[in-house]
Amino acid sequence: MSLRKCHGILIRTFNFSEADKIASFYTDEGKLRLIARGARKPRSRFASALEPLNYGQVVYFERSNSDLHSLSSFDVINRFERIKGDLDRFSSASMAAELVDIVSVEGMPDRDGFRLFTEYLSLVEGSGEPDLVTYAFALKFLSHSGFRPQLERCVSCLSPIKGSPWFSALSGGVLCASCAAKSRGQRFAITRGTLETMRRMLNGDISRSTRFRADRVCKEEIRRTIASFIRSQTDRELRSLRFIESIERVVP
Ligand SMILES: [Zn+2]
Repeated sequence: MSLRKCHGILIRTFNFSEADKIASFYTDEGKLRLIARGARKPRSRFASALEPLNYGQVVYFERSNSDLHSLSSFDVINRFERIKGDLDRFSSASMAAELVDIVSVEGMPDRDGFRLFTEYLSLVEGSGEPDLVTYAFALKFLSHSGFRPQLERCVSCLSPIKGSPWFSALSGGVLCASCAAKSRGQRFAITRGTLETMRRMLNGDISRSTRFRADRVCKEEIRRTIASFIRSQTDRELRSLRFIESIERVVP
């Protein structure tokens, strides 16, 4: 058994046994799932530290004969209070953390992915449009992880999109109007403005994502595109995205 240290962001916890929790961290060494012994007990030393989106130093015991290593300590450096104090920012950042959890591979170091996620959290903390910063992050993180949607040309006939674009999650990108008419799979129309915005999100630097502005229709189209793409490409559903939709129905 050896003691290891790294920096990481807590992306998820769940109860493991009557006394313990599993804490999932996204770190500069990749995704790590660690057992936090005694974390469910009222006076646990982990009590205040194990809050999702906390960033800090992770110290853990690595067991050579098991996949489940054990958390020794988590010293929080940044709690991202401005995200947690605002419902829009928090629900957006929760969606990003869930995406990271779904897409990242355990134990595979990914420093660029980690840098992208930490930069995203710093940006969303000060952003007035956290949903747009999050959509930009989602497109870039998916692309970085090998799930890049084809937004430049029709994914079926490869010609440039001239008329109205359509999106087909199953095909993995946009379709021209004539391929969309022939396609039998599920697809939906998006506006040219939405396509342009998503292209800029995908190709631009994350640091510029706070400059995006979009109307309600455009935001809904981007959200639908990303949600259907994730569902189709990873076979997983983002629970936090459904939560965002439900609050928007209550607060128009
Ligand atoms: Zn086509």
